[in-house]
Amino acid sequence: MTKKNKAKTIGELKKAGYQPVPIRAEMRRNLIDMIRKKKNIFPGIIGFDDTVIPQVINAIISGQDIIFLGERGQAKSRIMRLLINLLDEEVPVIKGCEINDDPFAPICRWCRDKLAEEGDATEISWLPREERYGEKLATPDISIADLIGDVDPIKVAEGRYLSDELTMYYGLIPRTNRGIFCINELPDLTDRLQVGLFNLMEERDVQIRGYRIRLPLDVFLVASANPEDYTNRGRIITPLKDRYGAQVRTHYPTNIEDEISIVEMERRQFSGDEFESYVPRYMKEIIAEVTHLARKSSDINQRSGVSVRTSIANYETVLSNAIRRAATLGEKLAVPRISDLPYIQSSTTGKIELESFEETREDKLIDDLIKKAVLQVFNRYYQVDELEDIVAQFSGGFSVEVSDTMSAKSYMRNVKEMIGLTDVVKTVVDSERPEAIAAAVEFVLEGLHLNKRLNKTRHEGKIIYRR
Ligand SMILES: [Zn+2]
Repeated sequence: MTKKNKAKTIGELKKAGYQPVPIRAEMRRNLIDMIRKKKNIFPGIIGFDDTVIPQVINAIISGQDIIFLGERGQAKSRIMRLLINLLDEEVPVIKGCEINDDPFAPICRWCRDKLAEEGDATEISWLPREERYGEKLATPDISIADLIGDVDPIKVAEGRYLSDELTMYYGLIPRTNRGIFCINELPDLTDRLQVGLFNLMEERDVQIRGYRIRLPLDVFLVASANPEDYTNRGRIITPLKDRYGAQVRTHYPTNIEDEISIVEMERRQFSGDEFESYVPRYMKEIIAEVTHLARKSSDINQRSGVSVRTSIANYETVLSNAIRRAATLGEKLAVPRISDLPYIQSSTTGKIELESFEETREDKLIDDLIKKAVLQVFNRYYQVDELEDIVAQFSGGFSVEVSDTMSAKSYMRNVKEMIGLTDVVKTVVDSERPEAIAAAVEFVLEGLHLNKRLNKTRHEGKIIYRR
């Protein structure tokens, strides 16, 4: 149906031959169509092509409700919101209905009264797909009224099977009727609410204030949970667990490549800066590696996980420190260096949970992660044995000073003095610009230090590499 001649009444809708479709059938039909047309079903989701996405697709083709199990920051919310793309662009609803009633089969009293009175002249409106999606973070203080709805006890006191007589206040789920509703952190819902949810999904009725209310909603339910919470006995009632057709386990990027791609897509960018900035490939790898190492660390609580947001924030931090330096020194190009890395303390600390409660160890832990990450990345680019000519030049008292506040020009002196250094840094930098070369010099020196070829000392805010 084109926008121009869209039906405005139930009569016109009938004439146009409109056939209402249940939500699961609608999503399934559109999904299969997208697969056939080779469309990107989950744009911006990186690293799930062979794991999460096929499972989600199968669940939708099966018409199964989905629960995503995963630690924080694994794109669960993003996938849920992308499900909107599987809905028709718009669907007809009875105009003014609070629960998006199907014009041909309304379930609320208000609509049925209206239909009885106005018949085919009953007005309809078209609901865009963005408005057919709802989500809620489960917390222990959410009530049945919030999620499902409430009734006026005086009005229902006469008993009987109630919904006909009811003036019901509708909660979030009924208001997403004929749409997708997502509950984040499902295990945090109270048992009573979990029972209510189960009844709504399975029996299509629900107990409110002791009254049994029929509510035949058509909602695609999605939930998310931390695997630990979900598996723990008692956190989630068994019938509700059984009701979810598909459990899909999410995960962190399995390789550095994917981690970097996500960071580059997600990082905050500002337009109109007077600086050019350039983040060398090895610096990106170091940032991603810090996060990957943190995910393997036994000192860090792996049940709560280490989100990709850690990499994103750390990337932003080192780049910001480079911009701060460029602004201070009047340089035009901002390039992060190794000596910018200690600043990621501030963007890492809040995103990891330590296994023990000794706060003081956190700094040291992050410092160790940085060292390990630099070493691993350095050894991917260089064989230390091939750098012995550089190391040899440090014998006899030669030393190099670096710091995050020093100008790129002052590094260039070392490049000129040290034979072969220009060629060595070419491995990791293809720019002639001093800011980029300075950063590469520091990477080489730190790599030699971490491979135990150079000593590193600190003096008045400067770092000195010597033998
Ligand atoms: Zn209605």
